[in-house]
Amino acid sequence: MGSAACYHLAKRGFKVLGLDQFEIPHNQGSHHGKSRMIRKAYYEHPDYVPLLIRAYELWDELQKKASEPVINRTGALYLGRAKDSVVTGSLKSAKQHQLAHRFLNNPEIKEQFTAFSVPDSFVGLFEPDGGYVRPEQGIVEHAWQASSAGAKILTNTPAQAWKANPQGVEVKTAEGTLYAKQLIISAGAWMNTVLNDLGIELTVTRQVQAWFEPETNPEKFSPENFPCWFIETDPPYGHYGFPILPGQKGLKIAGHKPGIPIPIDKIGKALEPPTQSELDALRDVLAQYIPNSAGALLKSCTCLYTNTPDQHFILGKHPEHNRVTIAGGFSGHGYKFASVIGEILADLATNGSTRHPIEFLGIERFFDDASGKGSQHAH
Ligand SMILES: Cc1cc2nc3c(=O)[nH]c(=O)nc-3n(C[C@H](O)[C@H](O)[C@H](O)COP(=O)(O)OP(=O)(O)OC[C@H]3O[C@@H](n4cnc5c(N)ncnc54)[C@H](O)[C@@H]3O)c2cc1C
Repeated sequence: MGSAACYHLAKRGFKVLGLDQFEIPHNQGSHHGKSRMIRKAYYEHPDYVPLLIRAYELWDELQKKASEPVINRTGALYLGRAKDSVVTGSLKSAKQHQLAHRFLNNPEIKEQFTAFSVPDSFVGLFEPDGGYVRPEQGIVEHAWQASSAGAKILTNTPAQAWKANPQGVEVKTAEGTLYAKQLIISAGAWMNTVLNDLGIELTVTRQVQAWFEPETNPEKFSPENFPCWFIETDPPYGHYGFPILPGQKGLKIAGHKPGIPIPIDKIGKALEPPTQSELDALRDVLAQYIPNSAGALLKSCTCLYTNTPDQHFILGKHPEHNRVTIAGGFSGHGYKFASVIGEILADLATNGSTRHPIEFLGIERFFDDASGKGSQHAH
């Protein structure tokens, strides 16, 4: 989110300084793992769809200038029971926003998507525009193009503290204090350092991703022949995965359900390698739903979700400081939006408002009217 904000601000001619506590990209936060699913028929809520339409336009714009592929529309297949939320919610968003889609009854899934094996109770929805974005590449391209437009980006530079007053903002680093007119904070798993003062607590969780070599016919799982997929294995949560990306040998799978909660001072623990039982659980899902896909384990790693109480993002002006804009709590589904979040953060920091419909993501939804502080429940 930070690199995209730098890109949009620099492109508009503003003087920009971006800070990250680590390298760009890195594998100690939420963005590593080579692929992130992108889709428009959003089962989570139809209100996200206008943001997704713009996110796609901006990924395509970034792609035109990029040195490596950033986005690939492989199509995406959503599978689950009609009474649960993934297929039904996706269908609702697709119809409400007139998105290209194909509803699939059970025999149609079996006929048209022969790589999958689903129970008779499952239905499906195929979205031709679905696919994946490459997260590390997206960040590098945003940061690189921001720098080319004049932004200064400092890596291995933690922000130790910040202050805002009516004249401007200050950020303290080990090298000294930086002064600016506006501050954008998008600190991923470290966002609690900002939000706790407002009475909101985000839950940081450990998430596992793994790559398996198919037992036979790897070409069957290439991006030309095999879609990105999401299966509602544990309603309203599920598992999702990707084709074998160019240059790789394995199919990636991950679970989409908040994992084990980790206190902020133990983040290193969350990033310890996956356990055998975590990997077995992923292998079992592949073996059950995508026959012959779960051969040798090639690679695995852990990554962080930063969950809000209602699993929707927090995006907007800091309620107590007009010169500070915040973006966090992406709850395991934020990366696909990074391109448009960057544009929105640039709008908010420079105009104080945005044309994008983000009211439903305002932090105020958690505030208890009486105290003005967070109540942990969305109203
Ligand atoms: C396993 C896994 C799978 C996922 N799959 C998907 C998917 O398929 N589709 C999807 O859309 N999303 C997905 N997500 C979610 C998505 O990756 C995140 O929502 C997104 O990366 C969050 O971006 P961010 O900028 O908030 O956090 P990050 O990318 O972690 O960036 C925050 C940055 O802030 C820096 N920072 C923090 N504190 C400081 C400080 N004090 N000073 C300086 N720098 C600081 C950090 O070093 C970090 O680089 C997945 C996440 C995981 C973990």
